Amino acid sequence: MGERTSFDVAVVGAGPAGLALALGLARGGVSTALVTGPERGVDHRTTALLDGSVRILAQFGVWEAVAAKAAPLRDLRIVDATRRLVRAPEVNFRSAEIDLPAFGYNVANDDLRLALRAAAEAEPALTLLRTSLADLAVGDAAAQLSLTDGGAVCARLVAAADGRASRVREACGIAMRKRDYPQVAFTATVRHARPHEDTSTEFHTESGPFTLVPLPGNRSSIVCVVGDREAVRLMGLPDAALARELEARCFSLLGAFEMEEGRGAFPLAAETARRLVAPRVALTAEAAHIMPPIGAQGLNLGLRDAAALVEIAVEAVARGRDPGEEAPLARFEAARRRDIDARMAAVDLLNRSLLSEFLPVQSMRGFGLYLLDRVGPLRRAVMRLGVGARAA
Ligand SMILES: Cc1cc2nc3c(=O)[nH]c(=O)nc-3n(C[C@H](O)[C@H](O)[C@H](O)COP(=O)(O)OP(=O)(O)OC[C@H]3O[C@@H](n4cnc5c(N)ncnc54)[C@H](O)[C@@H]3O)c2cc1C
Repeated sequence: MGERTSFDVAVVGAGPAGLALALGLARGGVSTALVTGPERGVDHRTTALLDGSVRILAQFGVWEAVAAKAAPLRDLRIVDATRRLVRAPEVNFRSAEIDLPAFGYNVANDDLRLALRAAAEAEPALTLLRTSLADLAVGDAAAQLSLTDGGAVCARLVAAADGRASRVREACGIAMRKRDYPQVAFTATVRHARPHEDTSTEFHTESGPFTLVPLPGNRSSIVCVVGDREAVRLMGLPDAALARELEARCFSLLGAFEMEEGRGAFPLAAETARRLVAPRVALTAEAAHIMPPIGAQGLNLGLRDAAALVEIAVEAVARGRDPGEEAPLARFEAARRRDIDARMAAVDLLNRSLLSEFLPVQSMRGFGLYLLDRVGPLRRAVMRLGVGARAA
């Protein structure tokens, strides 16, 4: 640990959200410590970073390092693959329609985290504490963070980015609002015979979406939302059988599949913190909200939390104010609450409309997609909202 033990902000957790947040703060002139937590293992998943996130990472000075490994998502196609009575038309969204070169970029989680970590290690204004948070005590002028290596630091503001089992959130006694889903996201990466042409395709099925997201080369990542028994079956299939099965699920759109290393199963969860702030504490990213992996919202939302907190803390410090006092924290809660609740509600609605056997619900979903297909201004508004254009 370095000499210094007192900071404007201590960020807890060095996942992608915490790393980006700490870099944004440090580069904005806020004295910042990052409590990294334990070293992480290999993560075979990928993350679709939408345009708003790309702009946030560029603003924090780290997009260039990430871009080198990312694949553009120029077009997005939604296919109703349900066998229901009411089926929606195929809808195609083109980023050029809203004057963007791409809706976003898909990048391997490990490439994203390693690029952010390298930038954090090289940032002289950021103090990395390679240990974990054990406990938190909030005083009048600062919070004291007790660390598992026996050390302690003080910060005027503690930013929780320590993930879904957040120790910071627990120490503050903030409860989560939870929704249960009977589904699991099965993930894998494939090589395919035909090019994806930078198009992400989402098949809507009765068990949830099946999504193909482009990676560099003739490769795509797959997120396939299924029931838990089906997920166990897919996890146990030999590579060749799994490749055939996944190829069939997308009607051989990209030709023959070959599996790459790594597959995973993630139970769908939807949780939102009842409060985003407590005295001297702000919750961000998965410490504040866990989204089902539908519509690529989770980390994109987390990066918007980071951008909002950076703006508020940088402004407070530049004016000689305390970034952990009540007013900036209230501003953060107000800035982020509506976006988080709205995205959670939209993902929940889409997921439930797929699971529903109720004809009017299926009709509503079909009609909604019909409108998106036909009504230009609505399409463009939804596309802009989808990439986070207003929030970033
Ligand atoms: C299958 C799947 C696909 C997804 N696809 C997308 C997508 O395409 N687009 C998208 O935007 N989102 C996606 N998501 C969501 C995205 O993966 C998460 O939102 C994101 O990884 C959360 O990042 P985070 O930094 O908040 O948390 P984490 O990555 O969990 O990081 C938390 C960090 O905190 C550390 N930590 C924990 N406890 C402590 C402690 N006591 N002290 C210090 N450190 C601690 C941990 O070690 C960890 O490094 C997907 C999720 C799933 C499951």
